[in-house]
Amino acid sequence: MSRIWTPLTDPDDWGVVQDIEPSTRMRELPDGRMMGESRITLSEDAMGEIFAGYRCARCLERQESAFPEHCRASWCRFPMREHQSRQIELDFVGQQPNSPLGFNLERELDYLEQTHYVKKGSVTPGKEI
Ligand SMILES: [Zn+2]
Repeated sequence: MSRIWTPLTDPDDWGVVQDIEPSTRMRELPDGRMMGESRITLSEDAMGEIFAGYRCARCLERQESAFPEHCRASWCRFPMREHQSRQIELDFVGQQPNSPLGFNLERELDYLEQTHYVKKGSVTPGKEI
């Protein structure tokens, strides 16, 4: 098994991401850059942990307790207690823990854009410009 994805907080917790399939599809990011899309396949155990709240649905880091208030990864801090269920719906819609596994990165990005996109054009330029 290759180490496609390596956890940062738990060195023994690898093998979660079993496959990343490159795709020929491209998407344009809000800043104009183009990014290739890929589909990530997770292990069955990891999927179960995500559904049970023991693994962050956003960064895939393993958690010490189910549905912590925030993901324990310092770079993520995903509010799992509040948003994990919604994240699962977005990323794993139509999937069961025992079905062929994987989630769509495109959905992930769409969600991030929806939640973090700041509307442009509402700021009045300062006089010093
Ligand atoms: Zn996380």
